[in-house]
Amino acid sequence: MPASRAPLPQPTPESQPFFDALKQRRLLIQRCTDCGNAYYYPRPFCPACLSSEVEWEQASGRGTLYSFVINHRAAPGFVAPYIIAVVELDEGPRMMSNLVHVEPDPEMVHCEMPVEIVFDDVDDDFTLPRFRPIDS
Ligand code: ZN
Repeated sequence: MPASRAPLPQPTPESQPFFDALKQRRLLIQRCTDCGNAYYYPRPFCPACLSSEVEWEQASGRGTLYSFVINHRAAPGFVAPYIIAVVELDEGPRMMSNLVHVEPDPEMVHCEMPVEIVFDDVDDDFTLPRFRPIDS
């Protein structure tokens, strides 16, 4: 019997470029060319000024841990414990993701720790963004 697996995102026309770029090891965010606001998640208008003059740009993939929770009650397809993280990218937007390559132990994880992206090839069609601590 196949193991259950975590559900995958369902790309929309607005988010397809984001997922295509992940397969190419690039993290894309959007920026408003009217007011300069950078944002995530993908959408065809700026959440700050509602302008539709927005464009994709490649993010650095670096940021800091804004918040996290260590989940001990796994949803189907997940293996507990694991870390659900909100990462604040250096460009400003916050992304919900997972923190990996670190023990899911509150002694090992703290807010504002520097992190960088890890491209996780979950199957042939999907690469998802996770983050790991940057050794400093
Ligand atoms: Zn704007």
